[in-house]
This record gives sequence, C-alpha cells and structure tokens, in this order.
Amino acid sequence: MTPENNFKRTRLREYGEKYRQKNRDKINARMKEYRRRPEVKEKQKAWRQKNREKFREYYRLWYKKNGRRRAANYAEAILEWKQNNPEKMVIRARFTEAVRLGKIKRPESCSKCGKERRVQSHHYDYKDYRHFIWVCASCHKLIHLGEKH
Ligand SMILES: [Zn+2]
Ligand SMILES: [Zn+2]
Repeated sequence: MTPENNFKRTRLREYGEKYRQKNRDKINARMKEYRRRPEVKEKQKAWRQKNREKFREYYRLWYKKNGRRRAANYAEAILEWKQNNPEKMVIRARFTEAVRLGKIKRPESCSKCGKERRVQSHHYDYKDYRHFIWVCASCHKLIHLGEKH
C-alpha cells in the first residue's frame, strides 16, 4: 500500500466514525427497524442453523476452558436468590414494569464512570423500586465486589 492510499484510508475511517457518532440514534433506529423485518429474521435464522455446528464447537471449547460449572452455578445462584428474596422480586417486577411503560428511562451512559455503555440497574436497597442507579457492567461488578469485602 502506498502512503497516500494509507492516508486516504485513515481519513475515510475517521469520517465514518464521526458520521456514526453524529447519527448514532438514527443508525440504531434504522438497524432496529431492519432487524425487525420478517425476511431479515428468516435470514438470520437460516444463518444460525447453518452455523449451528460452529456455535456448538465454540461453546464446547468455551466450556472446556471455563468449566461448565461456572454458568450452571450462576443460574443456580440466581434461582436461589429469587427463592430467598420473594419481596425483592416484587420490587424488581415493579421496576421492570416501570421501564417497560417508559416511566423509567434507561440512560445512554453509566452514572458512575460516565462512559457511554449499555447500562444495567443496580438496586442499592429494595425498600422501593425507585432506589436504584444505572451503571455499566464493569461498574456494576465493582459495586458487588465491594459489597462482599
Ligand atoms: Zn461505569
Ligand atoms: Zn447490583
């Protein structure tokens, strides 16, 4: 590749990035709309079926590396938590409903580190469904690690 070509390519990438940043909402909406089309759904399904073997192999290797117990324990832990905390489940359900109805809006960035990430709700107490903060996955992990120490 010539230096000039390289330069052009970098500029093009920069331009693409800027465009994406500026039109993020528009692009997201378009993608959502696109994925909702029945023919696209069909295509994705066909693709998944075609690649099922590959996925299986991928997961087999993943389990081999990370151990099957990890995922199983996690699911078990959630189930146990649900069984032991029925009153918290009620608050959670109320919260989920409020999000679904649009009474609570999911922000674009983490309330702890401020990064633009997909955020999760962390409920600091379960006295009220509104007692929560929106945090990214990494901050959420840190919060819970902090609770244990
Ligand atoms: Zn964060
Ligand atoms: Zn949490």
